[in-house]
Amino acid sequence: MRKPFIIANWKMHKNIEESVAFINQIKAALPQVADEEVGIAAQAVALSSMKQTAQGTSLQIIAQNAASELAGPYTGEISARSLADAGASYVMLGHLERRRLFHEDNQIINQKVRSALTTGITPIICTDDKMVQAEVNGEIHYVFDQLKGVLKGVDPAHLQKIVLSYEPSWAVGSSQTANPKVAQQGCHRIRQTVANLYGSLLADQVRILYGGSVNPQNIGTIMAQPDVDGALIGRASLRPDDFLEMVNWQQ
Ligand code: PEP
Repeated sequence: MRKPFIIANWKMHKNIEESVAFINQIKAALPQVADEEVGIAAQAVALSSMKQTAQGTSLQIIAQNAASELAGPYTGEISARSLADAGASYVMLGHLERRRLFHEDNQIINQKVRSALTTGITPIICTDDKMVQAEVNGEIHYVFDQLKGVLKGVDPAHLQKIVLSYEPSWAVGSSQTANPKVAQQGCHRIRQTVANLYGSLLADQVRILYGGSVNPQNIGTIMAQPDVDGALIGRASLRPDDFLEMVNWQQ
């Protein structure tokens, strides 16, 4: 049984004070961790204050990026170890905006995944819609190669806890409403690819999230898809009431 995981991706919104105020507003209404995981991915400088504010709750604190190296002369970078020290239990890696705006490729994302795993912080690995377009064109190899690239050298024991996400580029940050069928197709393809790489037992266990214009109105139908285990939510996660409504999508 895969536990649902609902994540707010705040991107470069909310300063420390706003992040803390948001958690104070939602924390009493968070679900039990046994039923569902809930996390917020925020700017690195806010993580430790957020962790302190969330103490005693099930809220997971998530970093939005990490350095590919563990330590060294990398001015301006933040290591996975420091993010873990600041209170992050997860780190998002390979988000569409990192690939598109900061030119991250499979190789660098793979290095980041491996560094994060070394320090005990769990990667949430994002993949975008080139996979589904490739699938439509019949180029299944591309699907396989992208995940194969970012998961290169990752031990099956680690894969059990890694979280994957499917975010079609046309739906992220756009006005196009997410289509539950597309969400299901993309997540299913990712699961099949994991099965090819690691076997069906692990593929059945790995959690795969959908991201792209999820909101309080459409989350129910998206979460109802058999291969969708959670949602990665950008814009609609910025208001506490909307976020709580999506966290409680089952009600
Ligand atoms: C995202 O950036 O991960 C995202 C899904 O954004 P939005 O929900 O705004 O489309």
